[in-house]
Amino acid sequence: MLMIQGDITSLSPLHFGNGRTRGTFSQTLPYIPGRTIRGMIGWYLFQNDHALFDACGLAEDHDATKMHLFARNAYPLAGGMRSVYAPLKYYWCKGCQSLIPAGKTECNMTMKGFPCLQEGRRYTGMIGMETFSEKRLKNPDPVPMRLETKCPITRDGHTSMGKDWQLKPYHIQGIEPGVSFGFQMLADETVSEGVLSCLEEASYTCGLGGFRSRGYGLVDFSTEPGVQVKELVDRRSGEIGEQETHLLTLNSPCITRSHDRCIIGFGDEFFREANSRLASAGFSGDISPGADASPEITKALVRGWSLKNGNKVDEIVPATSPGSCITVEGSPQSLAALEVLGVGDLLSCGYGEVYISGGI
Ligand SMILES: [Zn+2]
Repeated sequence: MLMIQGDITSLSPLHFGNGRTRGTFSQTLPYIPGRTIRGMIGWYLFQNDHALFDACGLAEDHDATKMHLFARNAYPLAGGMRSVYAPLKYYWCKGCQSLIPAGKTECNMTMKGFPCLQEGRRYTGMIGMETFSEKRLKNPDPVPMRLETKCPITRDGHTSMGKDWQLKPYHIQGIEPGVSFGFQMLADETVSEGVLSCLEEASYTCGLGGFRSRGYGLVDFSTEPGVQVKELVDRRSGEIGEQETHLLTLNSPCITRSHDRCIIGFGDEFFREANSRLASAGFSGDISPGADASPEITKALVRGWSLKNGNKVDEIVPATSPGSCITVEGSPQSLAALEVLGVGDLLSCGYGEVYISGGI
């Protein structure tokens, strides 16, 4: 397996539905969901290279061992790096955005010679990695948006409104052109070259996201050569090994199931799935909750996306939200491998991504 990283830059407005259309207003997500990237590649290969479509395992929705291509969410950049979801366990000063030390209720920083003393609040959303070294919230680069009003057109063309006219103008929120996002994709060696060489053509023949017939969805991919998973795991396990504690934070919604029921949080099912995923990729599945695990959990609903079912929403699934976190124990190698491999269901759509950070 290779980890492929790079940037996706919008060349036209982009729109990614979040399933929460209100009236005639369609809101967009502020990032590019992995499932739409997978959908674009899948749709293109299905039309143009059926052998590669099959080799990627794109018809497979649930069994990760049969998948050879895993798209990840493309998140806004922060200081040139892909941003991550802030762990929910921390509190940040309302005034200067510094980390509130554990056990304290107010900020102990000094501002212009005076103690800051403001209270803290949780932060939900994406942050730059520098947040961890600077102990202060580092916001990602802004994702500028536009709002456009479109009029529905009927086949009969431009007529004045009749008595039975039902159509209303609608409003599309879109990401502006010229915004870059951090791209990540895990691909088997057998398919990576083929997939990389089709990205450009797929992006301008298929496009990404909604309202493509309205001129939305044009992007540019710029990728670096893939890095072997083993090399990446070795590098990251060295960094993780130096940390005193290991906080596992979800960087996308995570879906864990037990007997067809979705289980929210970091229970036995989560660790069982994580360890069996590691074992199936040849790593030791030795991750367990820490002695003082203190999990922080919120719930989300995500839309499963199936190429097999006509590239449509397959199901609405309860999931554990990104930002949910728990202190864990395990060998640095296993923790590093879990960052690369992910945990839970619908992994090829970008769900189940985690990252490990030390105590801050
Ligand atoms: Zn402060």
